[in-house]
Amino acid sequence: MDQEYDGGCLCGAVQYHLKGPFIRFFFCHCSRCRRASGTAHAANVFTRASNVEFKSGADKIKTFKLPEAKDFARAFCTECGSPVPYTSGDGKVSVVPVGSIKNFSARKVDAQKFWADRADWYESGLAAPRQDGER
Ligand SMILES: [Zn+2]
Ligand SMILES: [Zn+2]
Repeated sequence: MDQEYDGGCLCGAVQYHLKGPFIRFFFCHCSRCRRASGTAHAANVFTRASNVEFKSGADKIKTFKLPEAKDFARAFCTECGSPVPYTSGDGKVSVVPVGSIKNFSARKVDAQKFWADRADWYESGLAAPRQDGER
């Protein structure tokens, strides 16, 4: 049986249910993903669009399609700005930001895309001292 997951945004307005299987799990280091995420790389799983079902907050989602790109978009909660799943240009595949999935189980990352474009501070970050924080 395929696993099932729940996901949502930081403020809780957007909630969704997600079913496996996943097609791919990619980190993407391209400059668009870095800019759009505000961090070193995007981390997305790709699945059939029919595997994502929004439970609440669909009306709070804004989708931005990058005009000059063939197929680059991001969707986010208009209350808190968190990235949420969106359907790709052909409508068949859903792109799900992994950090928005609440109970994502360990699954191997298939590839680090656009590795040559990675931020020049990415690897020094991996090697930096590790500290646990308090919330
Ligand atoms: Zn939100
Ligand atoms: Zn990218």
